[in-house]
Amino acid sequence: MSATFSIAFDSPVIGTAQAWARVPEEPSPAERDALMARCAQLLRTQDAVLVAHYYTHPDLQDLAHATGGLVADSLEMARFGARHPASTLVVAGVRFMGETAKMLSMDKRVLMPDLDANCSLDLGCPARQFSAFCDAHPDRTVVVYANTSAAVKARADWVVTSSCALDIVAHLHARGEKILWAPDRHLGGYIEQQTGADMLLWQGSCIVHDEFKALELELLKAEHPKARVLVHPESPAAVVALADVVGSTAQILKAARELDAPEFIVATDAGLFHALEQQNPGKTFIAAPTAGNAATCKSCAHCPWMAMNSLAGLARVLETGANAIELDAALAARARVPVQRMLDFTAAQKTAAMAGSLVPGTGAA
Ligand code: SF4
Repeated sequence: MSATFSIAFDSPVIGTAQAWARVPEEPSPAERDALMARCAQLLRTQDAVLVAHYYTHPDLQDLAHATGGLVADSLEMARFGARHPASTLVVAGVRFMGETAKMLSMDKRVLMPDLDANCSLDLGCPARQFSAFCDAHPDRTVVVYANTSAAVKARADWVVTSSCALDIVAHLHARGEKILWAPDRHLGGYIEQQTGADMLLWQGSCIVHDEFKALELELLKAEHPKARVLVHPESPAAVVALADVVGSTAQILKAARELDAPEFIVATDAGLFHALEQQNPGKTFIAAPTAGNAATCKSCAHCPWMAMNSLAGLARVLETGANAIELDAALAARARVPVQRMLDFTAAQKTAAMAGSLVPGTGAA
């Protein structure tokens, strides 16, 4: 049985309008080349590695690839940053990714091109209200999405990303645990429906994925009958219901590589199209609609906070040391526990899969 809990969101520090106003101008081709060379040199001289999310600007993704860094989803970003020997991690993404990198590597310097790059899920789940929500339901295992502040993670039993959320909740459900889930209501609802777990859902949403429209997607599918539909589970249930594959960014990339189809309609942030097109020459990727027939923009699926990351910002923080993530040591130690639990679970799952076992061995929550 499911239930919901509604709460008014705190005002964002940097809302979407302010974020769009802060998106840096596109450099000219010559400026871009100069910035790429300067950033590559700075990464070398500062003993730094660039870890970029799939939703960031293609320039940052290309630079990460060219300099031995990583372009990935938030789960792999966390894993890579903790293991890499560089003394400085530069995280191109949003605030919670920088915080997670820092809590897993307290001895390293973690810089971000713009510290105000945030996430509507994080902003919509303030720690004080979330803690009261948890206090009101002490019988439930607290599972939070990675898109939350360190303070919210510190209140959780488990942290999950969209790559592993389904498996972890299925595992907890099999142990008879009832779940308190935050913050994305669409992802929570999808997992509840897939696993049959008893989940109490916080009512947050991603401002990008929440905008995909089912009716327009059906019309687009009719125009492209050979296309397969790939949907991120932060999208509304009616959009997810039209998908051939539902999954995280990494799982969408895998499906695009493996499915034998000439065209794909993709419901996730437009930033992922860079990797989709790089990895699949000859296949066509079409953005899922975010608006109806009357709108001027048919798909505006791009995160304004991700767009605040730029080559110029990266060069600036490497030159000045500005925008370092600072975390209280006690808070980081508490928040690290559910993050590490997720990393251990996924590592055990990988080992079990390689050994041909279906049941990953994990510690208790
Ligand atoms: S795309 Fe959505 S979930 Fe991802 S950082 Fe932006 S607001 Fe958050």
